[in-house]
Amino acid sequence: MNLGTEKRIYDLGEGGMHLVHLLGGKGAGLAEMRRMGLPVPAGFTITTAECTRYLKHGRLDEGLVNEVREAMGRLEAATGKSFGRGPRPLLVSVRSGAPVSMPGMMDTVLNVGLNEETMEAMVALTGDRRFALDSMRRLMQMFGTTVLGIPKEEFDRATLRVARNNGPGSADMMDLDTLDGLVREFGEVYRNHGLEFPQDPYRQLFMSIEAVFRSWNSDRARAYREINGIDDGMGTAVNVVEMVFGNMGEDSATGVVFTRDPNTGEKRLSGEYLVNAQGEDVVAGIRTPENVYGMERRMPGAFRDLVEACDRLERHYRDMMDIEFTVERGRLYLLQTRVGKRAPRAHLRITLDMLKEGLISVEEAVMRVEPEHIEGIMHPRVEDGQDGSVICSGLAASPGVATGEIVFSSDRAIELSKQGRRLILVRPETTADDVRGMAASAGFLTQKGGMTSHAAVVARAMGKPAVVGAEEIEVDHIGGVLRARGLTLREGDVVTVDGTTGRAYIGEVRVTEVAERDDIDEFLRVCDSVSRLQVWANANTPEEVALAKRNGAKGIGLARTERMFLGNDRIGVVRAMIMSRDSEERRLYLDRLLPMQVSDFTEFFRTMEGMPVIIRLLDPPLHEFLPEKEEILERLSGPADGESAAELKKMLETVRDLEEFNPMLGFRGCRLGIIHREIYEMQVRAIARAALRVRSEGIEPNVEIMVPLVGHENEMKELREIIMKTFSSEDPEGRIRYKIGTMIEVPRACLVADRIAEFADFFSFGTNDLTQMTFGYSRDDAEGKFIRQYIERGILRHDPFTSIDLDGVGRLMKIGVELGRKTKRDLEIGICGEHGGDPESIEFCHTIGLDYVSASPRRIPVARLAAARAAIRSAMGSRES
Ligand code: PEP
Ligand code: MG
Repeated sequence: MNLGTEKRIYDLGEGGMHLVHLLGGKGAGLAEMRRMGLPVPAGFTITTAECTRYLKHGRLDEGLVNEVREAMGRLEAATGKSFGRGPRPLLVSVRSGAPVSMPGMMDTVLNVGLNEETMEAMVALTGDRRFALDSMRRLMQMFGTTVLGIPKEEFDRATLRVARNNGPGSADMMDLDTLDGLVREFGEVYRNHGLEFPQDPYRQLFMSIEAVFRSWNSDRARAYREINGIDDGMGTAVNVVEMVFGNMGEDSATGVVFTRDPNTGEKRLSGEYLVNAQGEDVVAGIRTPENVYGMERRMPGAFRDLVEACDRLERHYRDMMDIEFTVERGRLYLLQTRVGKRAPRAHLRITLDMLKEGLISVEEAVMRVEPEHIEGIMHPRVEDGQDGSVICSGLAASPGVATGEIVFSSDRAIELSKQGRRLILVRPETTADDVRGMAASAGFLTQKGGMTSHAAVVARAMGKPAVVGAEEIEVDHIGGVLRARGLTLREGDVVTVDGTTGRAYIGEVRVTEVAERDDIDEFLRVCDSVSRLQVWANANTPEEVALAKRNGAKGIGLARTERMFLGNDRIGVVRAMIMSRDSEERRLYLDRLLPMQVSDFTEFFRTMEGMPVIIRLLDPPLHEFLPEKEEILERLSGPADGESAAELKKMLETVRDLEEFNPMLGFRGCRLGIIHREIYEMQVRAIARAALRVRSEGIEPNVEIMVPLVGHENEMKELREIIMKTFSSEDPEGRIRYKIGTMIEVPRACLVADRIAEFADFFSFGTNDLTQMTFGYSRDDAEGKFIRQYIERGILRHDPFTSIDLDGVGRLMKIGVELGRKTKRDLEIGICGEHGGDPESIEFCHTIGLDYVSASPRRIPVARLAAARAAIRSAMGSRES
């Protein structure tokens, strides 16, 4: 690049938004407005490239100095004013403006060009000495602090000193003599530092330009860039613009306006203005600004122009805008415009309205809303500024906020919830045994466990907030103590968990509101209209199925039948079944479970009204349904009510029998179904009966039966036969059409997917286990033990249990899809691991051609958005290539 011939300065009329990288957001916005013929003062922008050059050499180079002088000449000609001279002195503002918004991070100097001579000329011109003095003291203070680095407090103290000797408080209430005294006092402040306020206007100008360039590297600007991931090499542009004055009396003002309400999204102006004031006064909070609609009465002409400008800018940018303006003697000037920041719920309203107004297309509407917006709208979160109450930080496992009293055991949670208490279940980790206690609590906090740990998965399914794997806390559930950041908390102490950010707080804290549900539904219908990938739900109870449907699920992608085994009325029977001596005794208990499962499945098929329902046959190792060994031993050591020691001993024996070194790689899933086929037979029978029952009520159920943990085609072959045989024993006439499919969650299954597909009507990727087995990371321990450190060290880019690891797990999935469809072209394929609710993973699922993603009911809205965005992105990608 030849820096010598590069254009260094753009007059405002020359640029536009396409040059934002060179002109910065402010400069490009001003240029754009000027091109549109809106009332913008004249001026020019020095490019960001000059900032980089200045910072490299530490001085303004000769060429730039000359070009600035030339640009000032053009500005003088355009305005009919003279820089540094009367009778019409030209004053300018010198303002920063980076390509990416960094609000308030860099410097600005106003009223540059004012000195003793031009001040008198301003007095003569305006007849208003007060205004001229006020402008002067503002320049001296801003120049002193920003350009010369004199501490602001020294100017504040000087103001107080003068005010104290001469009556009223702040500068804008001072009389003429006092203001005059203040200007002299400010001169003293300079001299105390061995400095002089420069009278030469060009010296003022160049020093201000340098100060703005330098402010790119101020500590706060650097910190802001670091936090927000903004490139340090970008640099800031400098805008030199003719000053217009909002402090010229009662017909002058300065203000800020949003073209729509940034909190609600309502289509009306929202903003504030101050009469007889200059730029920084509105934000400085010295005087209380008035509502912008007050202008309608006080300065109707300017207000009309403002309304029109807002309308034009919105239509031009096709977005809600944030505009800074000044009214000088009744005439409106626009000083800045940018896309306005807004609350997530306002963002949704605005997007929908703009779509209806025809301002944006469906694709634009969908791409403007980020998954975080939906999260922010669907779930309340803790408001900012309450960090002092944080007691720990862990994994944000299930979104939402819940406040309640701490309780350390599930039994206690069940007991206290009956008294109507709101509870937070705090555990080292949860197990299948805690499900009832979890149902009785409002939220969860665990010391251990990852994003696919029991607590996380159950919390998401139940739609309750959870913070898991907060390793910094210590949970002594036996002693009933939670230790966190120096605090010792006990049962009954109130805490708040924010499952959206992963933080827990002491006591109750302020939370944000949730938006109108109607808006979300309307927006998600727009999303569905462009998606290819369907969104189904993981749901295990009739309540979860109902919620899934309410959130727009088009099917149930995973019903984990083991969760149904844990109900109060059945866990006893399940345990007896597990402890049975032989399959004959086992069948006896299974017969008692049968009607219960029939009623569960009936409810599922009824609620889903003909949409697909995938019921997965039993998956976890059987010991998970029994109490832990230590607990049985403890019960055995004391007198146990209603429990015979013989019974406990039998249970202990069974637990010992079932003990395995690696239970997650052990006797579970289809292995269990093959060895104890009576369990699966009972479940298939229940599915068939439920389907027949619902059919007799006039609903054609869409039944899919899923086998977990298949790794070898022969497993599938054998189970397919068992399932078909059992089903037809219930439905000999074949009235119910159903599919038999498999989870693909063992790496080998991906590699032999073509063979497995011979015996499967559908595949569903179980990416929780697939990730666990592909990496060899325990899904219950890895996140707490080392994954966070791996991410910090850059070994892993992200947690593979949250977002699919595309290089490894993703590759296996791709192989699985290709091989599966090689055998059966139309093979239905989905995903039901927790990744099915993760936007990044959803995009990948779209790319490899899955038919649906199945997510926990609360994540369905985000998943619907992600599916739509994936479709649009891939259409854009294929158009580009
Ligand atoms: C999986 O492994 O991804 C899955 C959905 O099954 P589960 O989490 O029940 O093991
Ligand atoms: Mg699994």
